[in-house]
Amino acid sequence: ADTSGCTSGLVVSTHGRHVVVEPEEGPRLICHPRGKKSEAVVGDRVLWQHTLDGGDEGVIVQVEPRRSLLWRQDEWRSKSFAANLDQLLMWIAVEPVFSEAQLTRALIAAESADIPPTIVLNKIDLPGADAARARLAPYRAMGYRVVELSLKADTEGARAQMAPLLDGKATLVLGPSGAGKSTLINTLLPEARAEVGEISQALNSGRHTTTTSLWYWMDKAAGTAVIDSPGFQEFGLHHIPPTDLARWMPDIGKHVADCRFHNCTHRQEPGCAVRAAVERGEISPIRLSLFNDLFEELSQPRW
Ligand code: GDP
Ligand code: ZN
Repeated sequence: ADTSGCTSGLVVSTHGRHVVVEPEEGPRLICHPRGKKSEAVVGDRVLWQHTLDGGDEGVIVQVEPRRSLLWRQDEWRSKSFAANLDQLLMWIAVEPVFSEAQLTRALIAAESADIPPTIVLNKIDLPGADAARARLAPYRAMGYRVVELSLKADTEGARAQMAPLLDGKATLVLGPSGAGKSTLINTLLPEARAEVGEISQALNSGRHTTTTSLWYWMDKAAGTAVIDSPGFQEFGLHHIPPTDLARWMPDIGKHVADCRFHNCTHRQEPGCAVRAAVERGEISPIRLSLFNDLFEELSQPRW
């Protein structure tokens, strides 16, 4: 594409095919993609120019190469939804009881995209905290960072724990509803939320599309940003070949080289080192069962 006369910008939200771009200078504006190659997601750096009609909207001419890309499940296919992120924060809580299937899926998505994940357990003021900790123990043992806090019982403490975690990074915060993600975003970024809210609301009501992701600056000079994906359902993993799955599940991946058969599926083959590790209590049975389900899912023919 001819990019002369274009300037650079950051995609801060997407609304169907329309995106909001934050230029290096000047106010944010609505942009449209020019052709398939210029379809951008939140976090993308793009080259854009004003539309020829002299209006205040723009056209995206090119999406710059991405450092990382995440996919979500969109009915029957995976769809990219966020680019160039530095980390994933899995925001879960003591209540509602978190799903290990969802957590595992998120960790695989992050690992395979080379985005370090951190697990945050909120609501440790509730009586189920010890049970939740116990369920997270295997994930700690795998080397994942687990942060525990209570936004409600210790808001200042939680804020102090979050600050160094977020500092200088673009962080996607994801979690099941009810875990306290809105409370977090309202606590951390009330002003940014209001600013993004206005333009997104106008776009959503006018064009009957839903917002997929929003980029909030916490500290632009420092590069600290939080990305929220309201309505996010689950990660798409179809870009991962099933034979790669164990690479992104460290507890299982650690043992696969010791299986007797190099193409062992860890179901009933003799000499399976993974099942032996489950029997010794080194791998949680839940994780092996999740591995089996995912392996099957990723082995389905793709469209
Ligand atoms: P979201 O659906 O993830 O956005 O969750 P919300 O932010 O709406 O929070 C769900 C509920 O959990 C609300 O009633 C919050 O007040 C409550 N909540 C948030 N943080 C905590 C916490 O640390 N402890 C307890 N007990 N409740 C919390
Ligand atoms: Zn095996």
